[in-house]
This record gives sequence, C-alpha cells and structure tokens, in this order.
Amino acid sequence: MSEKFFYQDSYVTEFEANIIEKRKINKKWELVLDKTYFYPGGGGQPSDTGLIEGIKVSKVYEENGKIYHIVDKCPDRERVNCQIDWERRFDHMQQHTGQHLLSAVLEKKYKAHTESFSIEEKSSHITITKDEFNKREAFEVEKEVNSLIYKNLPVKTYFADEQMLKKLPLRKQPQVDENIRIVEIEGIDYSPCGGTHVKTTGEIGIVKIKRWEKTNKGVRLEFVSGFRALYDYHRKSNYINDLCHLLSEQEENILERVSKLVEENKEVKKEVTTLKESIFLEESKNLVKSSELYGGIHIVYKVYENRPPEDIKALGKYIAVDSKCIAILGNKRGETADLVISRSSDVDIAVNGFFKEVLRVFDGKGGGSICMCQGGGSPDKLELAMDKALSIIIDEINKM
Ligand SMILES: [Zn+2]
Repeated sequence: MSEKFFYQDSYVTEFEANIIEKRKINKKWELVLDKTYFYPGGGGQPSDTGLIEGIKVSKVYEENGKIYHIVDKCPDRERVNCQIDWERRFDHMQQHTGQHLLSAVLEKKYKAHTESFSIEEKSSHITITKDEFNKREAFEVEKEVNSLIYKNLPVKTYFADEQMLKKLPLRKQPQVDENIRIVEIEGIDYSPCGGTHVKTTGEIGIVKIKRWEKTNKGVRLEFVSGFRALYDYHRKSNYINDLCHLLSEQEENILERVSKLVEENKEVKKEVTTLKESIFLEESKNLVKSSELYGGIHIVYKVYENRPPEDIKALGKYIAVDSKCIAILGNKRGETADLVISRSSDVDIAVNGFFKEVLRVFDGKGGGSICMCQGGGSPDKLELAMDKALSIIIDEINKM
C-alpha cells in the first residue's frame, strides 16, 4: 500500500519518498513509493505529472491500493526527490472545486443532478439530469456560482464514519463503502470525492459556462474555471477586437453588422449567378452561330486557356440547350486540362459510349451521362483527345 498524502494536503509540490516497488512495462518504469502526493487520477480529474529525481513522470495511476508512477527510466537511488507539476495540478484544483460549486447550484436551483464530470485538455464537462437548458438559466447559474466564489468560503476535506455520513446532506451517494472522504464547501456542498481541491472558493477565480448540448442522458455543459476562463476570455477579446478593427465597427454593433454582411453576400451571390447565366447563354449562342455544320448538326470545337473549369462545364450545358448541337470544349490550366463533351437532347449520340476511349488519349479520368461527359487529363495531348472525339462524332453522324 502507498500512503495517499494528497488526501491531506493539495498544496505540497515537492517531497521525499522511498521507492518500495518497481517494475518495467513496455520500456517504461513504474514506481511505487512509500508515500505520495501525486494524484493518481479519478473522479473525472486526470492524474498529476511531474518529476522523480529529475525524470519525467508522465502518468500516475492506482491499482489494488498501490499508486504507480510511470517514468522513462529508473532512478539510481531508492530515496527520491519528487516534484509535482504545480501549474497542471492547480488548474485541475480550480476546475474540480469549480465543478462542485457548479453542480451544487444546479442541484439547488433546478434539481438537476450531476451524472458525470471530466476535466479535459481545454475545457471541463458535466452531464446533468435536465431536459433543457437555456441562456437565461446559464447566466443565473453563473451569477450564483461566482457570488459563492467571491464569498471566499472555506473548502474542507475529511473522512466520515457511518454516523457522521447519516447527518451530512450529501449531494450524491459515495461510490465506495469505506474510507469515505468528504469535500465540504462550507454550508453549500457536501460531496464524497477523492480529488484535490483549493482551500477557499476564492481561488477558483471564476466559473464560466461556455456552451451546452442536449444528449440522451440530459444536458452536457462545457465550462471553464480559473486561468482557463482567463485564457478563454483573452482569446475571445482578441477575436472581437480584430473583428471590430476589420469592419471598423463598435463592439456592440458587430453582430448586427456581420448579420447584414451575410445577408448582402447571399444577395450578391444570387446576382452573380444570374449575371453569369446570361453571359454563358450569350457566349454559347455565339459559339453555336460560328460553329461548323455536319449533317445538320452544329459542332462547337474550342480550346480555352486558364478558364475556371466551372465555366467550361456551364458552356457545355448551355450549348446543349440549343437544338442539334454538339460541344467539344477543352481548357488548359498549367499541369492539367479539362474536357467537356455535350450534346442537345435531339442528337442521338451517347457521349458516355465513347468518352472512355477519348480519355485514354490524354491520360484522363472522368465520366458522365449520355448527354454530357467531363474529365481531366494531360494538357499536351488535349487536342489529340478532342480530335479523336470529333472523328468519332462525325462517324456517328454519317451513320445516321
Ligand atoms: Zn469531486
């Protein structure tokens, strides 16, 4: 057994201990100490990290009452100096005590019970038994939680025997039968918990609910406490300031301004589409007018350079709207080339019947329907492929 000193004092960051057991697993060493202040993880709180004799402790975990410290190599001495990564530990303390307060207020205000809790890398989450949650409720909860923080209430931890347990207004039932440790936020919350906590609520700093979503178990809330909330605020302030600067707008008007821009953008896109359609229609008509006739069918044959591929596709589509037309359109764009072949509904030639053969000529890939096919391939052999298509089409026309 290892003595769990982290239960008694969450603020010890450096201590000496003796290695009482060691084992090598997957190239890493796992050390058991006679006593430890390293938190092994549990109850939603991740394990501590730190150093033993200057060697990195990447994880700590508990198994059958023993606490294993995972290190890259085995220390030379049995008596070792241990250091806990305090920044990480204090962050976990701020999140964890913050969660107890948040859960207590949700329980009191809405009878919403906390079903699960986890501290993750960026935020913490709780799932509460509540059907809905809204902005007003979130703000009410935040105000109450933070006013309890500013009261700077003492946070005490102690082990409770059966008799004591009967008297305590526990927020949740203990998950173990013996050595039940209580974390008490004076007069507010009594919870069985093995985690590390701050001494007074003031050290939580702030609790901010970031967002929430409905799940099949209730509502899952994402929140941040302490420094995490400060970093979150810092990042968001920067976003808003940059946005205001970009749009030369005051902060209070920014949402209205962006909404307007989104609406205007939709309108502009619509107008552009209409304009483009009329331009393509006009261009395709001119192409048909100047094209050559084979057996009463207009064959538009044209090679473009550096046009957007959507343009070529649109032209193929508009040419095919006319009667008795076939389009063979190529487009060279640097390392690649586009090819579109289309035909009017009254031309009885299956474009996809010969398109593969054409693709092979310019090492292309693509496909399509009996009326229209498109593909991409090598620009050097584009004209060869187009000529191949033209000769197949003329043969088909001759057979009609
Ligand atoms: Zn807890």
